[in-house]
Amino acid sequence: KRRPVIAGNWKMFKTVSQAEDYALKFLDEVRNVTELDIVLCAPFTALYALKNELEESIVHLGAQNMAWADQGAYTGEISAEMLLDVACTYVILGHSERREMFGETDPDIAKKVKKALAAGLTPILCCGENLNLREEGKAVQWVQGQVSRALAGISAEKLERIIVAYEPIWAIGTGKTASSKDAQEMCAAIRVTLTELMGQDVEKVPILYGGSVKPDNIAELMAEPDIDGALVGGASLDPLNFADLIKNAG
Ligand code: 13P
Repeated sequence: KRRPVIAGNWKMFKTVSQAEDYALKFLDEVRNVTELDIVLCAPFTALYALKNELEESIVHLGAQNMAWADQGAYTGEISAEMLLDVACTYVILGHSERREMFGETDPDIAKKVKKALAAGLTPILCCGENLNLREEGKAVQWVQGQVSRALAGISAEKLERIIVAYEPIWAIGTGKTASSKDAQEMCAAIRVTLTELMGQDVEKVPILYGGSVKPDNIAELMAEPDIDGALVGGASLDPLNFADLIKNAG
């Protein structure tokens, strides 16, 4: 069985002092959690402070985006090397908010995934359909297309080191979680695509669900065979609430 992963995506929330305060309270709560991997994906400006707070703890650090270039004249961008320097080991790539509001395309995301893997970071590749596609019955085809375009041409050996997060856009921040049956169906479909891409079994790749995950619905989602954890937005912002969610996931 794959090791579960619960990742918090703070999005554009928390100053340095708020992040430090969170880390102290959160660590206190999750100290004894051993059965899953915990990741906090914080804003760039809070990462260095969190590195100091979380060092040698069981909580891993992640970023929410990354450049596809190594370095150079890319105003406003952050490189893989910079993330590694502040002890990041994970990076969210292709979140729907970046695709929809900041114009990220599948080719951009594919380049970012390659760069993250080459640098030794674990990409959390996001995919997910909007409500129209879901209602038209095209969701599975759409999501499988997103995953294959983001991962085309990457060796099976490297693909074993990724995480995929299925986040239906209509469930993000809406309080409307996908049913565990729908989420399971999509995660299983993603696993089919991964198997095709890798030409072999993808037993090792964790597939997470994201979209209005809360302490009271995590257990039902995690009970599904192809859902290996969650990418959590709003419910990760309060340390005690997120710790509760993690305890209910275990
Ligand atoms: P919510 O948990 O706030 O719905 O956000 C989900 C998400 O986008 C995580 O990346």
